[in-house]
Amino acid sequence: MSGNFDYDLIAVGGGSGGIATCNRAGSYGARCLVIESDPVLGGTCVNRGCVPKKVMWYAGATAHALRDAVGYGFDVTVNGFDWTALVEKRQQYISNINNAYANYLGKNNVTTLSGYATLVDKNTVEVDGKRYSAERIVLAPGGYARVPDIPGKELGMTSDGFFELTEQPKSVLVLGAGYIAVEIAGMMQAMGSQVTLAIRHQSFLREFDHLLQEKLMDEMLSEGLHVEKGFTAAKLEKTASGISASGENGVTLEGFDAVIFAVGRAPATDGLGLENAGVEKDKRGYIPVDKYQETNVPGIFAIGDVTGQAELTPVAIAAGRRLADRIYDNQEGRHMDYSLIPTVVFSHPPMGTVGLTEEQARAEYGDAVKVYESTFTAMYNSFTPHKSKTAMKLIVTGSEEKVVGIHMIGLAADEMMQGFAVAMRMGATKRDLDDTVAIHPTSGEELVTMR
Ligand SMILES: Cc1cc2nc3c(=O)[nH]c(=O)nc-3n(C[C@H](O)[C@H](O)[C@H](O)COP(=O)(O)OP(=O)(O)OC[C@H]3O[C@@H](n4cnc5c(N)ncnc54)[C@H](O)[C@@H]3O)c2cc1C
Repeated sequence: MSGNFDYDLIAVGGGSGGIATCNRAGSYGARCLVIESDPVLGGTCVNRGCVPKKVMWYAGATAHALRDAVGYGFDVTVNGFDWTALVEKRQQYISNINNAYANYLGKNNVTTLSGYATLVDKNTVEVDGKRYSAERIVLAPGGYARVPDIPGKELGMTSDGFFELTEQPKSVLVLGAGYIAVEIAGMMQAMGSQVTLAIRHQSFLREFDHLLQEKLMDEMLSEGLHVEKGFTAAKLEKTASGISASGENGVTLEGFDAVIFAVGRAPATDGLGLENAGVEKDKRGYIPVDKYQETNVPGIFAIGDVTGQAELTPVAIAAGRRLADRIYDNQEGRHMDYSLIPTVVFSHPPMGTVGLTEEQARAEYGDAVKVYESTFTAMYNSFTPHKSKTAMKLIVTGSEEKVVGIHMIGLAADEMMQGFAVAMRMGATKRDLDDTVAIHPTSGEELVTMR
């Protein structure tokens, strides 16, 4: 017992962050409790995020491979696509992960509790009228998809609803320009739905390098997807031909079986009882933390999406593990470094990025920036009827040509990025890339042979 507390550590939220923190702390002998309000463990990533999404992305990639097969001499007739069967299989896969999480927590002697937790004070939470105390509390409640407050909004669904679809909508409107919107639009189109992606500005993924934005836009248009630019939905209505969306600009898009809002996410901090413990949140509801993930209240930490920094699963996991390493394994000073976080968009084709965009690099380093860029047809696509392009950009700075940004789109960009992110983290220069012997024939070799 630490003092008179029931536990050493309580995690509010059994998603990526809460589970990782308690597993690691538990492995060091800390007595931990994870509280999860969903009926299953795993949080957003496992149940309605990364995992089901990647399964659907693979389905889209398989559809493309079937289309490409003719280029390699195969005479393939596709007789259909069973969305319902795929979704059933996917949910079984997820259920196995839910069980594996519960087992792993058990192995680390972490206790789990089902219910919604509210802070009572800085050491106590309440779940269904019962109180639990701990020396420390980690808040990891994640976030939720926002729905615009417009007439007819109940006719639309969020990404959560998308993953509940047991039948394939034939005609879909996706509203949004972030990675979730682009991914859902791309995979639906690949799986055979007719998709309209409506974006507020002229481009999507606007925080990514221009090269990637442009190449992906070209690619999506060439796949037959309709991109409606400058569109902000003002109203949804049910008509004889399906759901219609009227924009603030007077344009009406109609005839949809499904409308998906992917217009951003918000932190799940309402109802957490932050005020009872004096934990501050910012104007948008996120919980500010210091570099050790500690909130303004000593002993109360926050990790993952609720902190509003790089909302990705491996970030939540890494932050939680480092927190546990520092506190329960005396790894002094250990904390999450939020710089150089690599990320991938599971578009068709996928894109990967790490470091600064060209715009950011020029703003930071001015004329010291040099850009190497290449667009080519990967060998695979030289044979396929659909000629998808691969594009890469390497951004370096200074006389030593230190690599400050790597951006790529194309087949296998998702798998390539991880290793290059390690190199960048180690301070790679252009010379280091040049001195690395290429692997041939691959797309990745382009990055170590750029001139
Ligand atoms: C469609 C989609 C696709 C995504 N794809 C990717 C991807 O490809 N790669 C990637 O890295 N990230 C992806 N993400 C982001 C990723 O899912 C999140 O960054 C990650 O889940 C954050 O982990 P977390 O622990 O902060 O929150 P969550 O995983 O959201 O976990 C929070 C948990 O806390 C529970 N909870 C909330 N309040 C309470 C309470 N008061 N009491 C008890 N329990 C509570 C919730 O039910 C939830 O289960 C995706 C997200 C979405 C929506």
